[in-house]
Amino acid sequence: MVDSKAMKEHLGCGVPATAEWPKPRLVVSACLGFADVRYDGSRIPNALIEALKPYVEFLPICPEMAIGLGVPRPPIRLVETGEGIRLLQPDMRQDLTETMRRFSESFLSQVGDVDGLILKSRSPSCAPRDARVYTESGKGTSGGRRAGLFAEAARRFFPNVPIEDEGRLTNRELREHFLTVIFALARLRCAIREGRIRSLMDFHARYKFLLMAYNQKALRELGRLLANPEHLPVREVSQRYATMFRAALSHPPRRPAVVNALMHGMGYVSARLTSREKAHFLDLLMDYREGRAPLSAPLRLLQSWAIRFEESYLLEQAFFEPFPRPLISLEDSGKGRPSRER
Ligand code: SF4
Repeated sequence: MVDSKAMKEHLGCGVPATAEWPKPRLVVSACLGFADVRYDGSRIPNALIEALKPYVEFLPICPEMAIGLGVPRPPIRLVETGEGIRLLQPDMRQDLTETMRRFSESFLSQVGDVDGLILKSRSPSCAPRDARVYTESGKGTSGGRRAGLFAEAARRFFPNVPIEDEGRLTNRELREHFLTVIFALARLRCAIREGRIRSLMDFHARYKFLLMAYNQKALRELGRLLANPEHLPVREVSQRYATMFRAALSHPPRRPAVVNALMHGMGYVSARLTSREKAHFLDLLMDYREGRAPLSAPLRLLQSWAIRFEESYLLEQAFFEPFPRPLISLEDSGKGRPSRER
């Protein structure tokens, strides 16, 4: 559990897992492998969370325990009433809506910098999108699903910070997007802490190809912001940059934009390639674009040329390694869908 001392003492950048990877700070539902806090006193082991532990600073929280509900406890549910959606504990005839809202605001306003959240699916408190809503008569569901109250507050407090549930993260594309963003936000936080435009420029240069794949327009606007024609204070530039960067990475990239970034990368080495090598690369790009090959196929080929020709600018691009390699996993449940086709 997060205690208030830990909240106050957090270092912002976190302690690097390696010199190269600042640790993202992730709020996580405590029942996902941290504590026996589910309504029946159980916890749910989660392989991704276990794999992330060396690389991430986890901030586990159980909102239901935090508002004083014990273990075991009668179930609580979201109910559609004449006064809107309420969080009720029918067996105890309790309305927990305001208590949960107050706790969520208090916790989220004190937790400090957050680079992402992994929350339990289907929970009326934690679910980012799929908690069941029941009818007031108690005879069934309204057919609707929505975010739990804690997750809803988190979205308000941390706009464009990735919030996922453990189920959707079994989808490979969603997981890779999530990992890409949390490690980018952690690195950006560290660059901002240095308090120099130069650090932001270095960050921007390192994320150029990745931004190109996610959002070309944002890449240009962020570059203009860093040129700082209005001579804004560093603090203001940093805040604007962070807001725009988070928005730029708020959806997984589309495949045509990723292809465009790869083509741009090829421009750095193409003069030294044979025509057969170039044709092979273009075939791979077409296969990736049409969904017949994973992104790793053209990406690794381009990276191998960058190594061969010692193209250090290319090699430093976060695009090639957006998160620590040991976290790469080919497992894919196919569950959930990226919000835009990649
Ligand atoms: S889903 Fe959230 S509220 Fe429910 S047990 Fe897990 S951490 Fe607690």
